[in-house]
Amino acid sequence: MTTHHVISESVVQRLKCPQRLLIDGAWVHSSNGGSGEVRNPSDGKILTSYSVATRDDTNAAVQAARSSFDNAIWTKLTPAARGKILWKVADLMDENAEELAELEMLDAGKPFADARHGEVPFAADCFRYYAGWCTKIEGKTTELSTVPDARFHIYSRREPVGVAALIVPWNGPLVMASWKIAPALAAGCSCVVKPATQTPLSTLRLGELMAEAGVPPGVINILTGAGSEIGQQLAEHPDVDKISFTGSTSVGKSIIDAAKGNLKKVTLELGGKSPVIIFDDADLDAAVLGAAQAIFSNAGQVCVAGSRLYIQEDIYNRVIDGLSKFASELKVGSALNYETQMGPLISKGHLDSVCNFIESAKREGASTVTGGNKILDGGGYFLQPTVFADVNHDMHIVQEEVFGPVLVTMPFRSNEDISLIANDSQYGLAASIWTKDIGKAHKTAAAIRAGIVWINCHGIPDMSVPFGGYKQSGWGRENGLESLLQYMELKSVVAKL
Ligand code: NAD
Repeated sequence: MTTHHVISESVVQRLKCPQRLLIDGAWVHSSNGGSGEVRNPSDGKILTSYSVATRDDTNAAVQAARSSFDNAIWTKLTPAARGKILWKVADLMDENAEELAELEMLDAGKPFADARHGEVPFAADCFRYYAGWCTKIEGKTTELSTVPDARFHIYSRREPVGVAALIVPWNGPLVMASWKIAPALAAGCSCVVKPATQTPLSTLRLGELMAEAGVPPGVINILTGAGSEIGQQLAEHPDVDKISFTGSTSVGKSIIDAAKGNLKKVTLELGGKSPVIIFDDADLDAAVLGAAQAIFSNAGQVCVAGSRLYIQEDIYNRVIDGLSKFASELKVGSALNYETQMGPLISKGHLDSVCNFIESAKREGASTVTGGNKILDGGGYFLQPTVFADVNHDMHIVQEEVFGPVLVTMPFRSNEDISLIANDSQYGLAASIWTKDIGKAHKTAAAIRAGIVWINCHGIPDMSVPFGGYKQSGWGRENGLESLLQYMELKSVVAKL
């Protein structure tokens, strides 16, 4: 029985060609011929090359989006027609799911089964969800509240914000791109998409599928290249009306500065340091499994990773034993190996950064419960699942986002207000609470300052559930109606009769 995924011939052929930019419906190389390398984090080898967009390419892509928007190339289609095209994108993603999953496995290091049965169908369903919204965008009528003796007809309209630049990180390339493209198109925007340099492959393939589904030329443009160049140019560009960015908090702040020239609208989905709270009346088996999956899924490279674990003191040792067992049995390795449960980190640079956090935690007095070392296996960027004890809230490892499979664990006493402790963070993206006491669960959920709180589960995503951050975890929300509205302006029309 084969234990390794064999790459399909179509993907082998695709990788042999340099990847191109999508500008105004045409697949083109960078205008100065510049290119960068895409590597496979499972073995460190070069997979293919991508085109590095120049400033001229960025301008051309923005111009194409601007012109398609100003000429209503997309919005002149009926909402039903646009909805059908988005649904068709989803169908094509399903039809090409093996290939998309392979691309996600190759450059993002997602174990094949996770990509094939998780990421790809989830991303396709995102297009179906927003396909449905195309025909349900509506305003409302209002009455004047203070003007006497006058008759007015007042209504509101929701209108697309215009040209949207969508900047995507590497940790969930296809899903994150879909979370932005689908609502932006449903709202009627024209888009310029910029995937992360590490992971352009699935987004570029999605661009082809969108064209095949009938998204008109110029409505979707895709630029590859460094965020500090192309991302920055998009954030500054006077013809871009909206930036939707997912990535680190530090870059998010630089986007705010860059966007102020034309006061473009900004949505930011940023970092997190999400607490997991286990009370002593929790279903312990479920809580241990949930806490382990919350930090080790996607090797901890998840914005909502449960990276701070608070355990009520009388069950602390039992939870730690369970976590250690889980971590030591987790199969870490190449994303192409069917037995792999946790794949590599995205790059050598990121592996080194996570290891620096581990070393600083040790220097500051944390004890390693399990893990803490790199795994040398065929050139891939692997790290042992790592659990720390004996930490305190002043340590970097407790306050900063590591974005790797590294968990800090802390006991809490029954008489302590755990929500105050959990809220001691610059971030406020997510949290989970594990208890059988329904009153305690909902009271704690209300007290936690985070955009999403899970009770007796962690990291359950759904298109209908708005998602985003309090505090330095961001501005605005993705998913649900909220995301759609963030690609729209609200106009009030006041008519005297
Ligand atoms: P990053 O901020 O380095 O890069 C994200 C994207 O921004 C990439 O496409 C990158 O090329 C681009 N970029 C980089 N510098 C830029 C600049 N100056 N101007 C414009 N764009 C620029 O983040 P990353 O390392 O790719 O992703 C990891 C981070 O993303 C983590 O902090 C994680 O928590 C966060 N994240 C948040 C969410 C969420 O929904 N809240 C989801 C996933 C990831």
